[in-house]
Amino acid sequence: MQNLSNIGQIKDVLTRHGFSFSKSLGQNFLINPSICPKMAEMAGATEDVGVIEIGAGIGVLTAELATRAKKVVSIEIDSRLLPILDETLSDFDNIEVINADVMKIDLHKLIEEKFSGMNVIVCANLPYYITSPIIMMLLESRLNIESITVMVQSEAADRLCAKVGSRQAGAVTVAVDYYAQAYKLFDVSRGSFMPAPNVDSKVIRLDVRKEPQVELTDEKKFFKMVKAAFAQRRKTALNSISAGMGLPKQQVESALIKSGLETNVRAEKLSMTELATLCENL
Ligand code: SAM
Repeated sequence: MQNLSNIGQIKDVLTRHGFSFSKSLGQNFLINPSICPKMAEMAGATEDVGVIEIGAGIGVLTAELATRAKKVVSIEIDSRLLPILDETLSDFDNIEVINADVMKIDLHKLIEEKFSGMNVIVCANLPYYITSPIIMMLLESRLNIESITVMVQSEAADRLCAKVGSRQAGAVTVAVDYYAQAYKLFDVSRGSFMPAPNVDSKVIRLDVRKEPQVELTDEKKFFKMVKAAFAQRRKTALNSISAGMGLPKQQVESALIKSGLETNVRAEKLSMTELATLCENL
């Protein structure tokens, strides 16, 4: 097997295939050899597990996942990487690379067709430009998956894993916490990539809840309210929700009072249960 985190070998394979990095596709490939084994282990890639990877790159994480898991299906948007992956992953018979945009592919069908009888996890070094949309798509689609272990920008990791009701929380924190339990696993410095990005990264794990964190009668309304509440962070929840949802202030005020909340409270102070109660009373 080739050493896919060896810079010399990476450069050699990329040059032979005439490959140039695409910044717009978030192509920062891992070159620190200690990261991928650790990530695959902490994601829970074991012999009876199926793994969905997003963005194979030249296959450095794909190979570590396939060494441990039963099967890996890697979704890679850039067709220029396919001949490279054919070469770098040629030792494996449990990897399938699919040339597609993860935001457009039917993942329910993929799981049904490729991972019958297996517990499925997602593990990826996500392209920076589309981190939150991918995570939210994976959670909102209610896929039959156990967990999502991903490398994301450090600041995004802090936001995604913040405690709801704390200063670092945002609308995305509430959305993630509704569907999953989030943990930060470890830090990854910018020097671990080629080319090096301008920011450091973190690996996080989201364990998908069997049942959502709170019971809601109208999910759509809840997420609309949460988005509005956090849109203007320096304003009170009352003002932000009223502006963002186009509702009279009096209506929002009555809902806050009925929910036993201060009328000048900020969204970042509200717990998941308080947000859910407020939505019910709105
Ligand atoms: N896994 C490799 C590694 O760790 O070195 C590559 C990670 S790189 C940060 C992100 C990868 O995602 C790139 O290979 C890029 O082409 C791919 N990618 C970008 N957007 C994508 C999308 N919408 N769907 C699938 N793959 C995508």
